[in-house]
Amino acid sequence: MTSPRLEIDLKKLYHNAHKLVTRLAARGISVTGVTKATLGLPQVAQAFLHAGVRRIGESRVENIEAMRRCGVAAPMVLLRSPMLSQVTRVVASTDLSFNTEVEIIRGLSEAAVRAGRTHEIVLMVELGDLREGIMPADLVDAVRYTLQLPNIKLKGIGANLSCRSGVSPDCAKMAELSALADTVDATFGPILDLVSGGNSANLRWALSAADTGRINDLRLGESILLGRETLHREPIDGLYTDGVTLLAEVIEVKSKPSKPWGEIAQTAFGKPPHVKDRGHIVQALLAIGEQDTDPSGLLPPTWVRILSATSDHLIVELDNDNVRVGSEVAFQPNYSALLRAMTSPFVSTVISGGGELPVYAIEHARSIGELT
Ligand SMILES: *Cc1c(COP(=O)(O)O)cnc(C)c1O
Repeated sequence: MTSPRLEIDLKKLYHNAHKLVTRLAARGISVTGVTKATLGLPQVAQAFLHAGVRRIGESRVENIEAMRRCGVAAPMVLLRSPMLSQVTRVVASTDLSFNTEVEIIRGLSEAAVRAGRTHEIVLMVELGDLREGIMPADLVDAVRYTLQLPNIKLKGIGANLSCRSGVSPDCAKMAELSALADTVDATFGPILDLVSGGNSANLRWALSAADTGRINDLRLGESILLGRETLHREPIDGLYTDGVTLLAEVIEVKSKPSKPWGEIAQTAFGKPPHVKDRGHIVQALLAIGEQDTDPSGLLPPTWVRILSATSDHLIVELDNDNVRVGSEVAFQPNYSALLRAMTSPFVSTVISGGGELPVYAIEHARSIGELT
């Protein structure tokens, strides 16, 4: 097998997705399974779909097109606003897109007319995290504009918190979104089918709030892939946190001083770290670096401590020196490390646990007592 590589265990991802789908269904909330951190791997999308996600969410039309080519037949949602330059492709490959600019929605309408298709729209509202969203005071006007466009259907409204500024999707924010949905429906008749409350950061609210109001969908990526909620990155009860692992190969193991010697200036990446002298340590080099992943986002096994990284090397301290060159170390990547590893041409992806997924999915659901 080639190294470095990401190993993706579909059984674990299926399990995670199924758990979250089941728990949220009890709160009247469906799941849009977000595959973008895996670049839209079709096997991951299929595992999500077998676990019961309602649709697949992606931020790039290229990933949606790739999944379509691989025969993923599910409804697909483009979560990032379409580029005006891509509206024709968006209309051709997706069923629904999230939008914040009427000029782009008009472009989608024109493309949909040309293609003889109907394209659905979710209008995203700004609730304070300051990434995408129409300001709440402008929502009714944007709805009015959208409703009169040919070949466009307004499917719902949504919001996204936490990603840029860390603003928590709490009861107050979600009540605000529910109230906006009520205002739109009161103004135009009951037209909103989907109220998409947010991402993995919404899980704590969704599973504990007394009342989830009008919110009937969440878009989940990281929590399914990595098994953690994203406000504090705590493991989610009953989910696997090791469904995705990143393996790197050992290329040097030596006893070396812990402290560099000589006159210290800048490093390859700027300011040198302050290093305490701890005498000699067992230092190893792994053949993975900044060009392959985000080294600061790797969780090592207990016997390994990450010291530093450069473009192509990860420098670690080992508990003992009976680790051989040619052996491998497995890390749990965080979202940032996963994203960069998936995108690096040097990191291969190995998918296990899929088999004949439809059959497997049924067996697995039986084995964990969730299907009789
Ligand atoms: C990426 C993304 C998501 C998924 O976020 P996770 O934290 O991975 O669950 C949801 N909504 C939007 C708009 C996104 O861009």
